[in-house]
Amino acid sequence: MGSIGASFDVFNGFYNTINGKLTSTEKTRHGINPANGKPNPEVPISTPKDVDDAVAAAKEAFKSWSKASYDERRKALLAFADALEKYENDFGKLLTQEQGKPLQFALGEVKTGVHWLRALTKLELQEEIVEEDDQKQVIVRYTPLGVTVGIVPWNYPVHLACGKIAPSLLTGNPIIIKPSPFTPYCDLKLGELAQQFFPPGVVQVLSGDDNLGPWLTAHPGPDKISFTGSTATGKKVMESASKTLKRVTLELGGKDPAIITKNVDINSVAEKIATLAFLNSGQICLAIKRIYVHESIHDEFRDAMVSFTKSLKVGDGAEAGVFLGPVQNSMQYEKVKTFFSDIEKENWAVAVGGKNEEKPGYFITPTIIDKPADNSRIATEEPFGPIVPLLTWTDEDDVIARANNTKMGLGASVWSDDLDEATRIARQLDAGSVWVNTHLELDPKAPFGGHKESGIGFEWGIGGLKAFCNVQSLYLKKKPASKI
Ligand code: NAD
Repeated sequence: MGSIGASFDVFNGFYNTINGKLTSTEKTRHGINPANGKPNPEVPISTPKDVDDAVAAAKEAFKSWSKASYDERRKALLAFADALEKYENDFGKLLTQEQGKPLQFALGEVKTGVHWLRALTKLELQEEIVEEDDQKQVIVRYTPLGVTVGIVPWNYPVHLACGKIAPSLLTGNPIIIKPSPFTPYCDLKLGELAQQFFPPGVVQVLSGDDNLGPWLTAHPGPDKISFTGSTATGKKVMESASKTLKRVTLELGGKDPAIITKNVDINSVAEKIATLAFLNSGQICLAIKRIYVHESIHDEFRDAMVSFTKSLKVGDGAEAGVFLGPVQNSMQYEKVKTFFSDIEKENWAVAVGGKNEEKPGYFITPTIIDKPADNSRIATEEPFGPIVPLLTWTDEDDVIARANNTKMGLGASVWSDDLDEATRIARQLDAGSVWVNTHLELDPKAPFGGHKESGIGFEWGIGGLKAFCNVQSLYLKKKPASKI
């Protein structure tokens, strides 16, 4: 058992947080540093009893946390955000060690987590009077759901955990965070740090193996699952949650198109597109995963992307100047490599990259496949790694139809100096987030979610707060019962 408080050390002692205590388990496991294959420290493998204990503690905590004033909840969250900021350099280093992303991006992710915690506290759900006359008042109000579970993937463990903790707590719901077994470390430390600011049971973090997610979604105690991960797992989560009619928010996979018109500054846009395809080694739900460039500028655009991509350094994220760290885990590495084995089989033209060196660590060379068929695997599936198809177009309606011709609908962007043209195209794209002349830029005040198989519901913004609540219509007569 660890102790909570002044001795907080981001790099040592990784415990579950259950009912305000740091606990471990008889059996433990560890993740590995994807840059060198070295083991990271041991972490708990939660048991069904740990799940029962955490759910029971959260239910108990709900009684008072749901009644705490909005101001009290907000103040606790802001103090937590300040503490995370105080330790941001250490969290950044730990994130690189467990996730693989380069240090500057790891630090950026922790800062984004702090920003999300703070920005979300600025939102507040107000009661709305939707009808009023001298006889009655009709009020719509939002009441907390109960206990929530936040299931987090391995690509952005800090930002995505913070993005679930803040709206759940603000709306009065204790939360249990379940990190991916590949990246439990920063989330366990977030849980430990949180104990200094929230009553026992309000923020709990459980690490475990592949059993833990299904145990939590099937458990009768929690009232909502906020899930971020792949579409395939999202379907399993929904199926499991349906047995108890738990509420679900599902943030799932993407196959984001970027449409580049002929009216652009080729060099600067090509650099931005490559950056947004290869950032986090392509392991972003909202990475650009299909590039549609106007046929008339294709050659010049491809060449500009190629020369920029060649300048991107691949390596251990702890080294200076690295842009692409390793892919996060062996499962993902093997999956991404299947797209490389398809290069020869499918006769794809490689504009840059195409070959990976055999060395320790899951490193993948950023790769652009030039003009593959629209129905090829690289143009239809989500590799979740640094390999992207470059496609061309000539007719506006046709490229819109092709961009929308997917089961995914997470993000999409249009790039043009002609803002009328760009906005016209953008408004016809079927995705939860659509950008003009940028991609991936998110705002905690705006709802984030996917259309089609990219998700159900959304997080963040006022609507994201509502997703952690029941809606209640309150009909109040203005006369005493005896006078009606
Ligand atoms: P994943 O679906 O394999 O795992 C996500 C989380 O679910 C992990 O914590 C995992 O342990 C847990 N899990 C696995 N099986 C489960 C089950 N049966 N029941 C409950 N929980 C279970 O996803 P991943 O590989 O960690 O992440 C990559 C995927 O996530 C990509 O498809 C990516 O596009 C998507 N993603 C989406 C968003 C978004 O906001 N839309 C953000 C990041 C990643």
